[in-house]
Amino acid sequence: MKLAVVGTGYVGLVAGACFAESGNDVICVDNNSAKIRMLQKGKVPIYEPGLEELVRRNVQEGRLTFSTALPKAVRDSQIIFIAVGTPQDEDGSADLQHVLSVARDIAKAMNGYKVIVDKSTVPVGTSRKVHDVVRRETTHPFSVVSNPEFLKQGAAIEDFMKPDRVVIGAEDQRATDLMLELYSPFTRTGAPIMVMDCASAELSKYAANAMLATRISFMNEVANLCEAVGGDVDHVRKAIGSDRRIGTSFLFPGCGYGGSCFPKDVQAMIRFAADGGYQFRILQSVEDVNKKQKTQLFTKMKKQLGSLKGKTIAVWGLSFKPKTDDMREAPSIPLIESLVAAGARVQAYDPEATSVAKGIFGDRISYAASNYDALKGADALVIVTEWNEFRRPDFSRMRTLMRAPVVFDGRNLFTPDQMKQSGFSYYSIGR
Ligand code: NAD
Repeated sequence: MKLAVVGTGYVGLVAGACFAESGNDVICVDNNSAKIRMLQKGKVPIYEPGLEELVRRNVQEGRLTFSTALPKAVRDSQIIFIAVGTPQDEDGSADLQHVLSVARDIAKAMNGYKVIVDKSTVPVGTSRKVHDVVRRETTHPFSVVSNPEFLKQGAAIEDFMKPDRVVIGAEDQRATDLMLELYSPFTRTGAPIMVMDCASAELSKYAANAMLATRISFMNEVANLCEAVGGDVDHVRKAIGSDRRIGTSFLFPGCGYGGSCFPKDVQAMIRFAADGGYQFRILQSVEDVNKKQKTQLFTKMKKQLGSLKGKTIAVWGLSFKPKTDDMREAPSIPLIESLVAAGARVQAYDPEATSVAKGIFGDRISYAASNYDALKGADALVIVTEWNEFRRPDFSRMRTLMRAPVVFDGRNLFTPDQMKQSGFSYYSIGR
């Protein structure tokens, strides 16, 4: 099939490369010409495991091309995906300007029947808005489909190639049949393709992210409760996770969720619920708990270390989660800002996100070449992201590098017993 994907970010680039990998001809379009030039040279501007190889292979085999020219991509394609950003507006709602402007540009370039697929995360009713925008600009026939994306950064290719399910919101059979044909190679293992109305498809994406964010905030509250009244959140987590009705995933407490999706999608859902006359009370709490949780590490550090002025603090992990360089809404940002404001010297290390971090903090902090390098002369270490390489460090080497053996662990990578035996003062979450 001939496809265009507009927006070559985490979602669009992965989707484009994976569709090409399954034999389709894909043109990826972006209005960021520097990004397109890089991709044309076979360089991937983001860190996502396996993506560069996948892109290179499909470019070499001629199935994947990159362009800034949207009209030609539209003319040459049967199905056009919109995968541009839907950032948070000032009032928390999803900003649809990029989605609607791409829809308008697609309409202007149409030369026959097209399926216009919204892959960006958008509030209920957006497919109707896209439909209206396109209808105003063209007399050609078209269908609008809502096909939300559920991939996780860090495992995006695996998630796209072997999805748990594919959700398709479509209002007509012609578009439904084309979408079923397109996705059939990805669901051979038996994952369902769920066809539904567009509103349900749009809402499914928000409900999934909101549920996951709710589990995280719930467990963070349980952890805080352990600290207040006693109990070890790790035991509690295992005890409740073994109940099959609950399950084990997304029960890890930490220093707050971040990323480009959960914070903005929770906000947007609160907003479009309110616009529809419904007050989604749980989600407001999920959001409030998360904001507070992002301050927990700093509060603990102040309590244990007293004044932070002039102290050297090592930070392990800057990205919002492991296996990505993405720092959008990362808990490391408010933590480091608080440390710097309190007069601490921050020495940070992240395996992938250092160059992104330089754009945020500039020379207000220093960037270490390795996790051990970050520990030199440190009065304390704070762990913010659970990169695998932080899980089994050489504790005696750490102790000799640090000025004081103090660890604040926002991800519960170690056990309190293990840290005591290794000679550290250790402060984690909910234990
Ligand atoms: P991103 O910011 O990484 O990428 C968006 C891309 O769109 C950028 O390259 C930008 O240059 C391009 N763009 C913006 N306006 C454009 C225009 N008018 N014409 C052409 N290109 C344009 O965003 P992302 O993380 O890939 O997310 C895209 C959408 O998918 C969002 O709605 C997001 O909520 C959703 N989503 C993201 C994830 C994720 O893990 N990142 C997962 C599922 C869904």
